Amino acid sequence: MIISIVEDEQKLATLLQDYLQNEGYETRIHTDGTEALESLTHTPTDLVLLDLMLPGTDGMTICTELRKTSDVPVIMLTAKAQEIDRLLGLEVGADDYICKPFSPREVVARVKAVLRRASSSAADVEPSVTSSPETPSFVFDPDTASVTIENETCALTAVELRLLGVMHERPGQIFNRAQLMRRMYEDNRIVSDRTIDSHVKKLRQKMETVDQSTSYIHSVYGIGYKFEIIKNS
Ligand code: CA
Repeated sequence: MIISIVEDEQKLATLLQDYLQNEGYETRIHTDGTEALESLTHTPTDLVLLDLMLPGTDGMTICTELRKTSDVPVIMLTAKAQEIDRLLGLEVGADDYICKPFSPREVVARVKAVLRRASSSAADVEPSVTSSPETPSFVFDPDTASVTIENETCALTAVELRLLGVMHERPGQIFNRAQLMRRMYEDNRIVSDRTIDSHVKKLRQKMETVDQSTSYIHSVYGIGYKFEIIKNS
């Protein structure tokens, strides 16, 4: 696994490098934004730690440019809390962020979590059954592009299938719209936040039609959506 560290503070970059190498990752350091973008566009890497303020090209531009051709996981390093919504939004499309100042340990933990998430969502979706005494039996079957709740089936479109597939695989995990979009469309097309919201709404309605007693897809204000089976009270 190769982690690219794009950070113009040499001391900080070296500190991150030491911690990541201790965990067995290979690392590359870039201290100039323009050079980093050039290198990241042409050399494969498994994850990018990307500082926001850089000489040359800034981190936000690098991520936006990178997203046109690549879905490599990107974690932004930022001191600007007010930028976070934009960083995770559709336009920039970062996977996660860490606020400065941070501990290197926190960075390592976040790198591991993002890599785990990236590898699991790339894997094929398997049919799965969820049921417990409190919740209705819920069967999501990608092969037949359907969801069955208490023996009632609703058919899903290809986009809804992938949308549910991504979220269903990690119950409780919140996905932002950029993450959902990248996994919903195989041709990497760019759609608006509203298009994603409308697919989520339709998917939710389909499931509510078969089972009004339970909620499956939840909005998380300001971030995105998650899948969780919760009995309506
Ligand atoms: Ca900087």
